[in-house]
Amino acid sequence: MDFHGHIIDGQEVESLDGARMHTVDPFTREPWAQVALGGRADAARAVAAARRAFDEGPWPRMGYEKRQSLIHRLAALMEQHADELAGADTRDMGKPTTQAHHDVARSAWNFRFFADHARISAAEAYPMDSGHHAYSRFDPAGVVSAIAPWNFPLMLETWKVAPALAWGNTVVLKPAEDTPVSGAVLGRLAIEAGLPPGVLNVVQGYGPDSAGAELTENLDVDRITFTGESGTGRIIGKVAAGRLCPVSLELGGKGANLVFADAAMDNAVHWAVQAIFRNAGQVCLAGSRLFVQREVYDEFLDRFVAAAEALRIGDPKDPATEFGPLASEEHFGKVKGYIDGVEADGGKILTGGLGEGWFVKPTIIVDAPAAARVCREEIFGPVVVVAPFDSEADAVAMANDTRYGLNAMLFTENLSRAHRVAAALKAGTVWVNCFFIRDLRAPFGGMGDSGVGREGGSFSREFFTEPKAVVMQVDGA
Ligand code: NAD
Repeated sequence: MDFHGHIIDGQEVESLDGARMHTVDPFTREPWAQVALGGRADAARAVAAARRAFDEGPWPRMGYEKRQSLIHRLAALMEQHADELAGADTRDMGKPTTQAHHDVARSAWNFRFFADHARISAAEAYPMDSGHHAYSRFDPAGVVSAIAPWNFPLMLETWKVAPALAWGNTVVLKPAEDTPVSGAVLGRLAIEAGLPPGVLNVVQGYGPDSAGAELTENLDVDRITFTGESGTGRIIGKVAAGRLCPVSLELGGKGANLVFADAAMDNAVHWAVQAIFRNAGQVCLAGSRLFVQREVYDEFLDRFVAAAEALRIGDPKDPATEFGPLASEEHFGKVKGYIDGVEADGGKILTGGLGEGWFVKPTIIVDAPAAARVCREEIFGPVVVVAPFDSEADAVAMANDTRYGLNAMLFTENLSRAHRVAAALKAGTVWVNCFFIRDLRAPFGGMGDSGVGREGGSFSREFFTEPKAVVMQVDGA
């Protein structure tokens, strides 16, 4: 069985106490790789390496152009190792291989985009009428802790690591304990690409009172970027506030998907299926609440059920598979709890339910009252609640009736309505007639229980740097 160590100071190392853990393939339900199990001391060692690399090493001082070329080299290596990286996410969490390959391509693009973006947006100038000239510098913040979840392992790790590195920071990445391998491979590729020792460290292990907690509490850390559950975000936010460390929190969601009667129906059905069943619904952005205008409700539902039932369920390693198992036994238990409670809560399962092993089939629920747990809580599985609405105002009110505010989708051919509803929805991202499409210059993040802060393009620049104003007198007086 392959073994993956921590990547610390340019070396692949065991934990200080030699501890290891297994990572389990959710399709076979068997361990498939061994990984170093780090604790606080290992995380502290990684932070110390990142601190040295930042305070004394070449990375923050080499300039944008050199960093850009090293980061592009890393992206090229990721593309060359796409099978290994995608294979790791598929084995670690059951993500269908075609989707895992898509994630690898996006992850390499994260590096390429931020390497270029940092270089072309490295400063701003503000000529002043008073005979002074002001400009901004965006100097790296220092050591960044990047703590990632298990649902898009490589993609979300690189979404944090890429801007942090491009802006000259050094990083300690902690992948989720269930999906450690692609992060380990990334750390190895960074060494091969020529990133100096200590610039990208990868430490493996658990969160509470362990490696993750150390990465938030260690006073040598200057920025914390976290993606995960809202409850964990609250804990990390508190720790960060206690020592005034800037923190970016990308948390859970309960996305609303609004289908108006004038929508292009084929397109709306296609995206409604993608929005909740891609990655077996283990997507923060999932369209887990689907509201359909009453005139087309029955027709839409028939087509939606048929499309859900047509998804190819199977071995995630098979390129024909569209839908795999849930990522772990623990997560399967959580989603099963919601399904078991549907009828008691007044809902009805139209299709889906529990499958073999850790599979939950694409599940569509109707008639659930708005107060039911399945309508209010993030299930993080392939489970959608569907309800009819009458007016545009009703649709907006139903969509906004949530503590989350990450994203929403709407389907309509009416241009004015599209803009009006997009403006009224409480969400960090609104997709109109599509889903999941990203421009990395745009802000990404959520409001309410979905998080604090935005990343993407210049929003990442603000977070990963210490912007500084320099004001010069230029008239010589
Ligand atoms: P999680 O909060 O359980 O864990 C996320 C990471 O935090 C893991 O690496 C874990 O080890 C670490 N961690 C846990 N407790 C910690 C602590 N006290 N201190 C430091 N680190 C700690 O989340 P998860 O189950 O891995 O991920 C699923 C959640 O992530 C869902 O709620 C989903 O919506 C959310 N998510 C959000 C986005 C987004 O962009 N908003 C994207 C993907 C996933």
